[in-house]
Amino acid sequence: MNLPEMFGKNVFNDSVQKETLPSEVYKALRATIEAGKQLDVSIAGAVASAMKKWAVSMGATHYTHWFQPLTGLTAEKHDSFIEPEGDKVIMRLTGKSLIIGESDASSFPSGGSRATYMARGYTAWDPTSPAFVKDGTLYIPTIFVSYTGETLDKKAPLLRSMTALDKQAKRVLKLFGINCKKVSTTVGPEQEYFIISEEEYMRRKDLRLCGRTLFGAPVTRGQELEDHYFGVIKPAIAEFMRDLDEELWSYGILSKTKHNEVAPAQHEMAPVFTTSNVAVDGNMLTMETMKKVAHKHKLVCLLHEKPFRGINGSGKHNNWSMSTDTGLNLLNPGDEPENNTLFKLVLAAVIKAVDDYQGVLRASVASAGNDHRLGADEAPPAIISVYLGDQLGAIVDSIVKGENYVAAKAAAGGIGVPESPIFPKDATDRNRTSPFAFTGNKFEFRMLGSQANVSDANICLNTIVAEAFEQFADELEGKKDIEKAANAVIARELKKHYRIIFNHDGYGPEWEPEAAKRGLLNNKNTADAVPVLYEDKNVEVFVKQGVFTKAEAVARADIRLENYVKIINIEALTMIEMAKRDIIPAVSGFIAELCRNVSSKLSVCDKIPYVTEKELISRLSELNDGATVAVHKLENDLAAVDMKNVHTSSQAMAHVIIPDMEAVRAIVDEMETLTSADYWPYPTYFDILYGVK
Ligand code: ADP
Ligand code: MG
Repeated sequence: MNLPEMFGKNVFNDSVQKETLPSEVYKALRATIEAGKQLDVSIAGAVASAMKKWAVSMGATHYTHWFQPLTGLTAEKHDSFIEPEGDKVIMRLTGKSLIIGESDASSFPSGGSRATYMARGYTAWDPTSPAFVKDGTLYIPTIFVSYTGETLDKKAPLLRSMTALDKQAKRVLKLFGINCKKVSTTVGPEQEYFIISEEEYMRRKDLRLCGRTLFGAPVTRGQELEDHYFGVIKPAIAEFMRDLDEELWSYGILSKTKHNEVAPAQHEMAPVFTTSNVAVDGNMLTMETMKKVAHKHKLVCLLHEKPFRGINGSGKHNNWSMSTDTGLNLLNPGDEPENNTLFKLVLAAVIKAVDDYQGVLRASVASAGNDHRLGADEAPPAIISVYLGDQLGAIVDSIVKGENYVAAKAAAGGIGVPESPIFPKDATDRNRTSPFAFTGNKFEFRMLGSQANVSDANICLNTIVAEAFEQFADELEGKKDIEKAANAVIARELKKHYRIIFNHDGYGPEWEPEAAKRGLLNNKNTADAVPVLYEDKNVEVFVKQGVFTKAEAVARADIRLENYVKIINIEALTMIEMAKRDIIPAVSGFIAELCRNVSSKLSVCDKIPYVTEKELISRLSELNDGATVAVHKLENDLAAVDMKNVHTSSQAMAHVIIPDMEAVRAIVDEMETLTSADYWPYPTYFDILYGVK
């Protein structure tokens, strides 16, 4: 395998464009891409024709506009290149079909906008994210909007948020005499996932229908020994990973590191960062490819945030920064951050944004699956705080206290090399408990769920930071002594938002009460986290930055709640079905066998001891009746939920249905530990977590 040769071989990338397009068309296309604009129709025909020719040479017969509706998944509608000509067919892709496609919007969630707007939507090419060939089809990344202009997807607002940030960041840079064409946001999403064997998966209704186990007694050996993290990768998994890498590389995805994660059967893939929209497309493709390649290996990739109770869940670390087209990373502190006013101003803007809009940021990662991590017994907590590390923390402290900062030597006990820069990587939050940590030259937002489309979090981040930049630029433009004025703004804002900074253990029991004292939000579940999105201030910031209209912002909040309600509903129904049809009858069957044992024993001799059977019969009968009662309660409560109202139903799901489900589970999990393995209807945690060789 020749890696450089295979890298991006399925992508219509810059070098292929250069090779296949007439030079004026190539130049016009690059200019469009760099400006982030829509392609001029006059050159679309030539681009489409070259793209089709290339795709056909790669074995493609179809093309699809590939988009990201609000379901959180990707959607595609395949058309063949075929066009009749006389009694023959030719392969064609017109400029128009490259740029624009029609798609019926009525079957995708639109959060009520459907009722008021036309059901028709169209897809439009995003030329800044390259097209690629996969499984005989040319994939054209597109946005998805209604005919009246409402965005119906996650890409369009992401692009808008990038534009907003670009505009305001350039104003800030200009204050310091830095002129550039463009400021782009960059993202490197680290993806966690579980790999299990297909055989076990197929025997678990909960995994198949919900992506997570709804029942399961803890395995005797979970992750206590901490020997899985960075441990030797199992042969079957290594083969899977090799195939995965090869396929990802062929799509131009820079899959860089792979390793075992904390939990048994859990792994991680980290790509090299790139521009936000390309990184999002890459991550969507990565998740899809993980599932597909796993299937080829008779394995299943679980992307759910919490497939197994008592075992670490999966998240996605969203590494985020901003850079100019001239290569300046706005979050690079340089050698002397204490004297780097631009850096400090950018830092203050991020801190201000995160504090002002902590609720929005929290809501941007809220989902039924992620609720099992955030706000449960797992990091990061549901409380948003910013981690700066020792050095940066000390600089901020000195600014807030109005003291002079004395630069520390390279951290003692760090990597022990005095001449290493002041920000060695490992000085940054080694324990990884912070939801939002400064890590050298970027922020790492760690609250994202593993199945999430990372657009949501990035739309939010870009928008709120653009807003902070705008406020700073408004205040500072025209000031004579920029250094002095900027430092005054930095000091004022850091003081004002100091409460959001927390440089200690985010899992610690002290943090929750401390955060409450500081007035920080702590919304533990989706039903409680999402409603902040309806607050005026939180709608306004998106409207002001041109990212959402008010209707779009509200529709998206509705959809988040609607998704949540639908998921919990499916989980509850699956649980009821599993308990009633499989588990309760199985336990009853085991009890019957125990009873038969007792009578046959007694038929031999009435002095034979049968304490074991008696104890089990009694305890299991009690539990099985308890399960029946708990399932009835769940059924009745679920029937009483008014599914049409997302506000009341989401509250009911969080505060009635989930506790009901907990009650059913607690009983069933105890029964699992008492029931003979021969009778238990499902593979256990042990079977699943240790099922791959
Ligand atoms: P670690 O988290 O183990 O210290 P790295 O610092 O190498 O690892 O980076 C982790 C992730 O952050 C990678 O996906 C990397 O591409 C990404 N990353 C690095 N720099 C940036 C940046 N400027 N913007 C966005 N992501 C970045
Ligand atoms: Mg990380």
